[in-house]
Amino acid sequence: MSRALMKELIKGLLKPFTIGYPSVAPRKYAQIVEGLRGKHEVQEDKCIGCGACARRCSTGALKLTDHEFKRTLSVSLKECIFCYRCVEVCPEDALSLSTDFELARTRDEERDLEIKWMNELSKCLNCGKPITTSKQIERVRERVIENIAPQAKGVIAEDLKVFLNYCPACRKELAYKLGFHPAKYYLVLSTRNVT
Ligand code: SF4
Ligand code: SF4
Repeated sequence: MSRALMKELIKGLLKPFTIGYPSVAPRKYAQIVEGLRGKHEVQEDKCIGCGACARRCSTGALKLTDHEFKRTLSVSLKECIFCYRCVEVCPEDALSLSTDFELARTRDEERDLEIKWMNELSKCLNCGKPITTSKQIERVRERVIENIAPQAKGVIAEDLKVFLNYCPACRKELAYKLGFHPAKYYLVLSTRNVT
């Protein structure tokens, strides 16, 4: 072995050339700038399980799976490109990207790179099939009521409590029987306008 090589080897043993990641946290050296896109944060209490984030995801990293009246949403940080689309599209501000960028993991620790959360699915009152999440049904009802004329609010609010608990196919089939006909609401609106 040449003297020069020996010298380099000894130098290498005496003093590290690189920062000893992960024993020395990179956070100490990094400048965290506002808007940095790191690991997802989910506010599960705010999430209504609508699935908009999964539909909008650029890479398929954010997935939605329905199984036995449970809706699971999951983000694989190994597939995510931190594009922010899922955050922008969320109607409830339930998603955000934190400044946690330290996502290097060993194979054994890889499960840390998956974030999962769940929502309950509602059952159709007629056929028993899953409709969508109970939280989404409630949110739809609130939004519809917010946007209808005050004179029809009471009638429509009560009907929606029932109507939204049927799946789309059963709604179509049973609309007349259950008394959900647009003419009824038209009548409510016009009658109350006159009086
Ligand atoms: S509420 Fe937001 S986080 Fe929850 S499923 Fe919808 S888009 Fe995704
Ligand atoms: S940041 Fe982009 S790639 Fe990552 S989960 Fe959200 S939409 Fe998908």
